[in-house]
Amino acid sequence: MRMIFIGPPGAGKGTQAKKICEDYDIVQLSSGDLLRYHIEKGTEVGIHANNFISRGELVPDNIMIDMIKKELKDSRYENGYILDGFPRTITQAEEFDDILIKLRQKIDLVMVLMLPQEEIVKRLSQRRTCKTCGNSYHLEFKPPKIPNICDIDGGTLYQRYDDQEGPIMNRLRVYDTQTKPLIEYYSKKGMVEFVDSIGDISAIYHNIKSILDKY
Ligand code: AMP
Repeated sequence: MRMIFIGPPGAGKGTQAKKICEDYDIVQLSSGDLLRYHIEKGTEVGIHANNFISRGELVPDNIMIDMIKKELKDSRYENGYILDGFPRTITQAEEFDDILIKLRQKIDLVMVLMLPQEEIVKRLSQRRTCKTCGNSYHLEFKPPKIPNICDIDGGTLYQRYDDQEGPIMNRLRVYDTQTKPLIEYYSKKGMVEFVDSIGDISAIYHNIKSILDKY
C-alpha cells in the first residue's frame, strides 16, 4: 500500500503515519524528518533548506523533488510507504506523478487530515520533539513519562524552532495557499479520503483504520 498524507502542520500526520506503518508493515517517509536529518548532518541540502524551514517557508520544489526521487529508490520502500509532508505544492505533485510512472508505482489513496486553526496553534505550541528519533509529544495530551526525555530512545526533547508562534502562523498561511490546492488536484483523480483529526489519537486512528481496511 502506498499513500500520501495531507493536512495542516500539527494535524497528527506523523503520529498517525507511525501507527499505520507498525500495523501494516510499510515505511513512513517524512519529508520534514529527512530535511532535519540533512540539517543535522550539515549536507548541502541541509544548509540550503535550513533558512526556509526556520522561517516556516517551503523549501524550493527542485530540492524537494530531487531528495524524494533519490530516497524512493531505496529498497526499504518496496513494500509500501506513507508520504508524510510531500508533495506540498502542485508542482511537486505533478513532478511526483512522473516519478511514479518511472518507478512503475501507483498511489492507492490520499488521506486528508482536517483540523481547525485554533486547534493547530494550541497543538503546535505545546509540541515537543525528540532530537534523535523525531517522535513527538504534547505537553498536555501526550506527555513523555519523564519530562523532556523521549520514551522510545531516551533522547532529549526540544521545541522545534518552527513550532513557535511566528513561524506557525507562516506555516499555516503557506498550507492554505500552497498545499490545500492539492486536495482538489487529487480529488479530481478520485483518490481522496477525509479524516477529522480532532480528539483522541487512538479514536482518530480507529477512523483511519476503517478507511484503510476498504483498500
Ligand atoms: P514538517 O516536519 O512536515 O512540518 O516540515 C517542516 C518544514 O520542512 C516545513 O515547514 C518546510 O519548511 C519543510 N518541508 C517539509 N516538507 C516539504 C515539502 N514537501 N516542500 C517544501 N518544504 C517542505
